[in-house]
Amino acid sequence: MTDKLRLRFAPSPTGALHIGGARTALYNWLAARHEGGELVLRIEDTDHERSTAENVEQILDALRWLELDWDEGPVSQAGRAPAHALALARLLESGAAYRDSATAKDVEAWKAEHGAGSGYRGTPTEEPGAAIRLRVPDEGETVVEDLLRGPVAFPNRSYDDFVIARGDGSVLYNFAVAVDDAEMGITEVVRGDDHLSNTPKQLLVLAALGHEPPRYAHLPLLHGPDGKKLSKRHGAASVQELRDAGYLPAAVRNYLALLGWGTDDDTTLMPTAELVARFRVEDVGRAAAIFDEKKLRWLNGRFMRELPLDDYTAAVARHLGREPDEQLRAACEIAQEKAQTLEEVWPLIRFLFEPPVDDPKAWAKVMKEGAGELLAAAASALEPVDPFEPAAIEAALAPVLDRFDVKAGKLYQPIRVAITGSSVSPGIFESLAVLGRERSLQRIGAAVERLSTGQLDV
Ligand code: GLU
Repeated sequence: MTDKLRLRFAPSPTGALHIGGARTALYNWLAARHEGGELVLRIEDTDHERSTAENVEQILDALRWLELDWDEGPVSQAGRAPAHALALARLLESGAAYRDSATAKDVEAWKAEHGAGSGYRGTPTEEPGAAIRLRVPDEGETVVEDLLRGPVAFPNRSYDDFVIARGDGSVLYNFAVAVDDAEMGITEVVRGDDHLSNTPKQLLVLAALGHEPPRYAHLPLLHGPDGKKLSKRHGAASVQELRDAGYLPAAVRNYLALLGWGTDDDTTLMPTAELVARFRVEDVGRAAAIFDEKKLRWLNGRFMRELPLDDYTAAVARHLGREPDEQLRAACEIAQEKAQTLEEVWPLIRFLFEPPVDDPKAWAKVMKEGAGELLAAAASALEPVDPFEPAAIEAALAPVLDRFDVKAGKLYQPIRVAITGSSVSPGIFESLAVLGRERSLQRIGAAVERLSTGQLDV
């Protein structure tokens, strides 16, 4: 390898970082880390109205949450206006670009005369406020050597001498991108294939400036499970939404990496170090990849279960905005097997921090004829248990099952509803143990009381 690999991630800060953009960022990051190369973060903020400081912060925040770091930047593209002006002046000087006073209407008229398939060629003028166009060769073709799809040729003749700067000297998007990629020493451009049609224009600018082009890889877009372009309709659409939904950054990296790259099975568990070791842009597939939040959820559950308890507690604490204290740790310990996302943890452990929830459906379903008697017997059996621990609790309740000749669920579901209010909780013995004898007995007693006053709530 000759040059050191230099990649860039170049988001336009016009809103939140979307899942497709996050995957592009991840692929650039993985490619850079795999090769020991460098990743530059360039903020394409030339659209002054939409590129707000909040949007920039939102994108940086999303990248930080994903734990994707960069080696240089963030570089503001708008801040590079002086460099763009210099490059523009060079092209005007050499004659590779020229001022042309034609309006869009004039270009239309020109095309009507010359045929729609031929690229517009303008007439150079000295008029100061005129737009600046790049001279596109009449002959030959511009070839994008795409790392994923091979050479893609675009006939030069079909390209207009396109506008690279407005009359006021502000440059256009494809010009800024080409100049920045060249001057920032970018060796590899990895971006969504919605940009493929821009690439010939950027190559023409680079050629006019005498710069070697970078290598390009245009990534197939992400689709939802219904085969349509990924959007809000398919669930969480932005990185912020994934965070709020309680996914772990490592699971998100794993899942996004597998969307279009690697194995055929996009539910393979792969720690980030392994992704870095194995990732090659060249191995990205050419078909659109399907983002399926159900698979991410499943994968996330696997990551959650494998976390050491302290890390798990810390992640839950951060998500809930609570302290990672002993009480939370004990709660996490019994919920860890059950939750697929951080968001799912609270409903499972809430009963340890607050009174039982009021869920009339859960109550009606299990507090049937005889439940009061069973609960009263359970309370008496639990009373003397010491230490109040899962195995001892289980042993104490077993004779109650025998005595009433009922299956486990007939007893445990009413207990569960009595102590949590809901029909879903961590294991019943663990739940009782962490809740403690006093609170368990008090809640079971309250349920017996409610049942005896005839509140069968059907
Ligand atoms: N700023 C462009 C975008 O957010 C990306 C440009 C590029 O990667 O060349 O879609």
